[in-house]
Amino acid sequence: MSDNLIKIAYLYEDLMNTYGDSGDVKILSFLLKREGYDTQVDNISLGDEFNTDDYDFVFFGGGQDFEQTVVAKDLPRHKETLDKYVNSGNPMLCICGGYQLMGDYYKTSSGVTIKGLGILPLHTVFKADKRMIGDTRYMTEWGEVKAFENHSGQTYFDDTDKLHTLGDMIEGYGNNPQDHCEGLRYRNFIGSYSHGPLLKNVNVANAIKDMIIERHNKRVGNNDTVAE
Ligand code: GLN
Repeated sequence: MSDNLIKIAYLYEDLMNTYGDSGDVKILSFLLKREGYDTQVDNISLGDEFNTDDYDFVFFGGGQDFEQTVVAKDLPRHKETLDKYVNSGNPMLCICGGYQLMGDYYKTSSGVTIKGLGILPLHTVFKADKRMIGDTRYMTEWGEVKAFENHSGQTYFDDTDKLHTLGDMIEGYGNNPQDHCEGLRYRNFIGSYSHGPLLKNVNVANAIKDMIIERHNKRVGNNDTVAE
């Protein structure tokens, strides 16, 4: 194993990649390269084997309802490994449809309930009142973020002691039209409705890059913080 090779799992890259979400992975690869790391991005798609022990970062992008239905059938095979990875504090970024599928369920506009992995205590429902589309701005622990959202699902947390929001809305909807907050931060798991991609916001990108390097050093047993 090469000490400076960072391994990224991109879940269902071919199906879950709306509004430039793959840019998040490209930006992280660029930032990691500047710090002396090479990156390998593996598309983990339908039927593929996957073990989070082999990875330093997991990314799950957004998707349309149809693609989410397809992915949701394959996803339960990976529940155990993802559950362990997330609950051990390892870095994962999920955008929009991917974020929804990490929760308990997503009830779509056609009345279909797509079962999620149930790793995070949250659920998502379509409500006839609005589609949340447009520019967003919100304040996070790393400063202000500007992005774009486009979703019909409204996300609600079912355990507010465990789950914390990623940011407070300045403009746009975020998780739902009532709570004025965006996304989720749970340990080093980040869920977000932001496309555009999210990580064009370099404050958030740098924070995630640091989480990835920390995970990598633990995984390869390297105590140095910067690769040679
Ligand atoms: N299909 C989901 C929704 O409309 C997610 C959309 C997305 O990932 N952009 O809520």
